Amino acid sequence: MARSFEAWELGLENPLFIAGPCSVETPEQLEETVAGLVKQGVKIIRGGVWKPRTRPGSFEGVGTIALPWIQEVKKKYGVKFAIEVANPSHVKQALDAEVDILWIGARSTVNPFTVQEIADSLRGVDIPIFVKNPVNPDLALWIGALERLDQAGLKRIGAIHRGFSNFNDTTYRNSPMWQIPIELKTRFPELPLINDPSHICGKRDLLFEVSQMALDLDFDGLIIESHRDPDQAWSDAPQQVTPEALGEMLRKLKTRTINL
Ligand code: PEP
Ligand code: MN
Repeated sequence: MARSFEAWELGLENPLFIAGPCSVETPEQLEETVAGLVKQGVKIIRGGVWKPRTRPGSFEGVGTIALPWIQEVKKKYGVKFAIEVANPSHVKQALDAEVDILWIGARSTVNPFTVQEIADSLRGVDIPIFVKNPVNPDLALWIGALERLDQAGLKRIGAIHRGFSNFNDTTYRNSPMWQIPIELKTRFPELPLINDPSHICGKRDLLFEVSQMALDLDFDGLIIESHRDPDQAWSDAPQQVTPEALGEMLRKLKTRTINL
């Protein structure tokens, strides 16, 4: 690749922590979860609005009606908010709602047409955007998506390692295949790279060890799913943790700079 990605200020802290529900469900669920996370020191919230589910018939996100709820918690709690976008209409709505950070999901990263459409819809816009690895272990496809955003003029680009789907692995929902993000980091040392232990693990009891591994490997941060009542979550229930459990876990992680 001709140019390397530039370093940019990740935000409020390094390592960067983003936490929040897999999906925004109701105004009450969002507010209670955010209030709990803020109490634990989290400053950047994630929450899916449009959900790319593997099989039809699953909950596919509440959609556009969640955007005013997000604006409300941003105002009330002073947090930044990150959401997934999968097409130009999502981008437009997210920008209109003054969402702070965008990400491209693993099922979108595999499709160059989709990524290009998203990139084109962001020309002239300065917003941080993260690209999850594609579901398949294809480093070139991941890099290609990052390049499409770079070529559209985005300056604050980052990568999220969420593991790779597989048929056989019974330990992880998505195999970490650490060598792939390590190779990405080796090729692009300035590109911020964060880890998503929630989608790698698929169950909450593995979150700590995967998070610690990522920090030991010098990842730049973590994005973790947290819900006020994880077992009742409308998507990804087994891997979500309460804000209190998340805070406890973050405080146990060994890193030079976390001060929650
Ligand atoms: C998510 O972040 O909730 C999500 C759908 O993740 P992924 O794109 O990694 O499957
Ligand atoms: Mn999820």
